[in-house]
This record gives sequence, C-alpha cells and structure tokens, in this order.
Amino acid sequence: MEVIQSLSICCPSPRGKCINHCETCTARQHENPYQDKFDGTHVQCLEYWNDVIKRMRYAQSKGCTTVMLTGSNEPQQNRRWIEGLYLAMKSLNQPFDNIEIQTTGAFLDEDYLRFLKDFGVTTVAVSTFNINDDMRNQKIEHNADKMLNIQKLCDTIESLGMNVRICVNVTDCILTDEEADKFAHTTRQDLPHIAMQYVESLLQRCHELHANQVTFRKMWSNEGTPEAVWIKSHSWYCDYILDAIKEIVTEKGTLLHKLPYGAARYDYLGFSIVVDDLMSALYRQNIEVEHENKADVITYTDDNFKDSLIEATRLRKQGKKVVLNRK
Ligand code: SF4
Repeated sequence: MEVIQSLSICCPSPRGKCINHCETCTARQHENPYQDKFDGTHVQCLEYWNDVIKRMRYAQSKGCTTVMLTGSNEPQQNRRWIEGLYLAMKSLNQPFDNIEIQTTGAFLDEDYLRFLKDFGVTTVAVSTFNINDDMRNQKIEHNADKMLNIQKLCDTIESLGMNVRICVNVTDCILTDEEADKFAHTTRQDLPHIAMQYVESLLQRCHELHANQVTFRKMWSNEGTPEAVWIKSHSWYCDYILDAIKEIVTEKGTLLHKLPYGAARYDYLGFSIVVDDLMSALYRQNIEVEHENKADVITYTDDNFKDSLIEATRLRKQGKKVVLNRK
C-alpha cells in the first residue's frame, strides 16, 4: 500500500515575495507552479480551504501523520493563513501527530512561538548557513530580522516544549573565519582529516542548540541563475565536509530508517541526523539499506531536471513510488 510520510502545505505569501533574500534561494530559481488561490476574497478562500482539507484527508487515508508548513517565503509572514489552516484542521476527524514549520526564524519571538505552539506546531525547523556566527548567517540570508540570535531562538523553542530541527545548508559559509583560514592552509591530502575534526565540533554545537533532529542539505542550483553562481563560488570545501558527516554518522551512528525520498536517518549524540544525498554515499560504500517498498529511481542531470521532475510527478500520480537521484 502506498504510504505518505508527510504532507507539505505551501503558505501563500501575503506580499508576493519572501521577507528574506537568501543567496541560495531555491524558490527564486524556478517558476512557482502553484496557483495562489488564497487572495483574501471569501469565495476563493472557501475553494482554497476545501482543497487543502481534501488533500489533508487524502494524506491521512494513506497513513500520513506529519504536516510541514513551507512555501516560497517564510510561513510566519502570513499569520492569517496559519489561523485559517488551524480552523481547516479542526474539521478533520483526527489531528496530525506532527506539525512542522520550516523557517529561518525571522521574527519568531516568544509570543509568536507560543502562538505556533497553541496552533499545534510540534517542530520548528530552523534553516541556517552558520550555527556559530549569527552575523555571517545574516549576510547570506539577508534575514529581515537583523537581531536574529539562533541560540536564543533554539532555547525558546526548547523551553516551550517543541522539537528543534536544525537544517544546515552546506556551503563554505558553514565555517567561521578562523575555521576557513585553517582549511585554506591545509594541504589537499590533509583536508579530510581537518573536515572530520570540524564536523565533530559542529555536531557538538547542534547538541548545545537542543537539536532533536539535524539535516545537512547539499545546495541545489539551477545553472544560469545568480543563485547558482553564488553556490558555485562558495563550494570549495563542501564535499570534504559532507563526506566527513557521512563517514561519522555511518561509522559512529545507528541507522534508524530510510526516508521515502532516498535519504537515511541516523542517530548520533542523542539526535537524529539526515544528509540529503546520503543514499549515494551508502551505495558507494556497498552498504545495503532495507527498503519497505521498492521505488523507481530517476537519475537526472542539471540539463534534464525539469523533464525528470515532470516524469516523476506523472508516475507518482499513478501511485508509484519514485526517487529522484542527481547524477
Ligand atoms: S527564506 Fe526561503 S523562500 Fe525566503 S529567501 Fe530564503 S530560501 Fe528563499
């Protein structure tokens, strides 16, 4: 039977654009295929919410227990939409076990976090480029909240009883100036060793931030966009860092399970870790991971990504499990 692990619901942007301007923004690199029916007029709102309720019911009928609030902007920009979703969820026969919001944390003070908790949010997924240096992070996200302090944010999330998920976008900016200097003065041969030391300290830092889950994301880029240029010029050490993470979690961590889109979840230092393209590393190491259901794998390159995505969507509509795998 087809199982839906989680349902992503995209929050419409009230101003038509995100309050931040992240250098790597995925949303700006492709056209948004979703028509925004939440324009504030009563009739269209009813049509919109009926559609959302229908999708939530369908997901629940397929075993889905998790909803993710996401979108091509910061979901907390649209408080009215979050309140609407709360009412829509009330019409379901059973609540979702997990509601997760994906955010950079902009303007999430204690009051707003309490509101999210009352709404039912169980996990706040904080997307960041550097977990040691707020200023460095600010320069990359151009975060509208100039005073954002990740330690304070995570302390508050934890104190309110919600889960902290740290989503680290892996670029060279993950390093502080001092660390970057150390990497720059290390021979190519010694870089894997330095990267291992660095990653151990990075994971300790996640622990200090009360992380229940940590996701390391390799950046996706669409050639020809300013974001792709930025990502390329900030990726000198990424492979060393990602390889070190994979090595540490596969050697020292415990495999928990494989996620439907292909990544694997590991337990290490008391929190779970996911590396987005971890499966390819496991295959390289000939490590077998049990699949609950076999999935069709579509291998894509930058040139044929759009066509591959369309094909994957077509097959998924037929009820097939499909994993997209970058070549
Ligand atoms: S917060 Fe998300 S949508 Fe907004 S600019 Fe950053 S990456 Fe793009």
